[in-house]
Amino acid sequence: MRNVVIIGSGPAGLTAAIYSGRANLQPLLIRGVEAGGQLTLTTLVENFPGFPKGVQGPDLIEMMQKQAAEFGAEFKEGNVTRVDLSRRPFALELGEKRVETRTLIIASGASARLLGLESERKLLGHGVSTCATCDGYFFRNKEVVVVGGGDTAAEDALFLTRYATQVNMVHRRDQLRASKIMQDRLRRNEKIKFVWNSVPTDILDPAKGEVTGVKLRDTKTGDETVKACDGVFIGIGHSPNTRLFAGQLEMNEVGYIVTRGGAKTNVAGVFAAGDVQDPVYRQAITAAGSGCMAAMDAERFLEAEH
Ligand code: NAP
Repeated sequence: MRNVVIIGSGPAGLTAAIYSGRANLQPLLIRGVEAGGQLTLTTLVENFPGFPKGVQGPDLIEMMQKQAAEFGAEFKEGNVTRVDLSRRPFALELGEKRVETRTLIIASGASARLLGLESERKLLGHGVSTCATCDGYFFRNKEVVVVGGGDTAAEDALFLTRYATQVNMVHRRDQLRASKIMQDRLRRNEKIKFVWNSVPTDILDPAKGEVTGVKLRDTKTGDETVKACDGVFIGIGHSPNTRLFAGQLEMNEVGYIVTRGGAKTNVAGVFAAGDVQDPVYRQAITAAGSGCMAAMDAERFLEAEH
């Protein structure tokens, strides 16, 4: 029987582990398929306080992990396949294994959203990617398309200019959502071209098993054109990883866990932190802050029981 189990190993989960470790609660942290979360898929993080020259995302995660281990956090690799929050202790299944815990901190984050095209699914990993920092290298001297107009798409596009000959940013409107500083960087980069008011309706060519172009529909005129390219990067945002908790926890209309009064969910003893409960800020620093809140709330909850 554990005091605290934390699902998720991004900045929210790791900060919760540091705090509950220091509170002598010997937390167990479960690292799933996307271990380390979105920071492991990024390069230089320039806005995490304390690093005036920036810090590499994977390095930041590794440091947080070491810090949590220092205070007695235990780590377990695995995918949680089922949770039962209907009675306490809460029960978690990791394949064949079962874990029981007095409190649960959910920090399972959010995953990259896809366009939902059949061809996109078929070509994922074969020219279609959701991670420029992971796959950019394969597009040396090639032409690519980045879909989206937010900071993710902007960051992907800028990163890809290191390798690609041309990066075409396809956006469904004629104004970017990305922050001003990113917009300025995009406009200054000669390799970046904008394709406004356009959405991909198909990615070519699944029959060949590789990307040869994207079919685009003009959102104003409805006209369809084909843009030849060698790779497509999807940067259209993220969806929360909450399927496991459907029907057991209160969520908003798009599946983010609802927290109130700190990190509390509607089930006493279950707390949520990071992107899984935050459709607004979604930053490493806000995730870390809410991980701290969840650990403190869990500690108080356990104390009140004694
Ligand atoms: P986002 O801000 O929600 O932007 C998603 C973009 O994709 C929007 O431009 C949206 O278009 C477009 N889009 C969404 N669904 C689409 C669809 N089905 N087809 C075509 N286009 C679609 O998501 P994000 O860029 O992942 O950023 C999330 C948060 O993380 C933001 O707060 C951002 O500031 C932050 N972030 C920061 C950094 C950084 O500081 N370096 C890096 C990455 C992310 P519309 O604009 O028309 O809605």
